[in-house]
Amino acid sequence: MTVDILLTNDDGIHAPGLKALADAFAVLGTVHVVAPDSERSAFGHAITTAHPLRAAETRIGQKFSGIAVSGTPADCVKLAVNTLLPNRPSLVVAGINPGPNTGTNVLYSGTVSAAREATIFGIPALAVSLRKYDPAEKDFAVSGEIARHWAEMILERGLPAGVLLNLNIPAGTREGMKGTRLTRLARYRYHDRYDIRKDPRGRNYYWLTGEDAEVLSPAPDMDAVALDNGYVSVTPLSYDLTCEGFLTELKAWEKFV
Ligand code: MN
Repeated sequence: MTVDILLTNDDGIHAPGLKALADAFAVLGTVHVVAPDSERSAFGHAITTAHPLRAAETRIGQKFSGIAVSGTPADCVKLAVNTLLPNRPSLVVAGINPGPNTGTNVLYSGTVSAAREATIFGIPALAVSLRKYDPAEKDFAVSGEIARHWAEMILERGLPAGVLLNLNIPAGTREGMKGTRLTRLARYRYHDRYDIRKDPRGRNYYWLTGEDAEVLSPAPDMDAVALDNGYVSVTPLSYDLTCEGFLTELKAWEKFV
């Protein structure tokens, strides 16, 4: 039985991280690449409803071809699973993102959202991000191998419905990494600033900038902390945003509603 695997990303179909995934996953089964036609980083879980989507067969390097879609990462997964792929994939993998997707950032991340879209379909998924990308070190190849190892485990053991694994990988060689930590999401406080500039017609425009985000009450079992300490971080994420803890307390409000 051959396994169909869908690969996607938020950096565009020609991004080197996606090609590294295709290289790493070709031995696992039939690899299908459906990805945005240009970069859609920080598009979150947006989908396109007011415009048509275009899909074009595209070559990726020497060995692979894929389908470039004029939409978001979540659009790519939706369209691929609904329409473009011959079979329902057994696994969806998104990445490899050049830069971490830890903590609160997973809400903004197109990479994580693509994986999350798969879990809404009931398909197990993996999001893969590299902490720091150095083209000279071929770090994507190392991350691709680590991602494949986790994919093999998912294919063998399965994941609960609605759950994805979010992998964040340190840069460098495997020997240089401290190991793997199973983590939960960190919470960030952002120190955002907007540069206020003037356009040629004298009107203000605004550009998001600012310093690095701060981890609130950092602890070793948080994804961002583990990654910064040199560990591969693996976090199970669920798309069910219900706050179970507060739901119990909220029931005490019932007499007032
Ligand atoms: Mn990206």
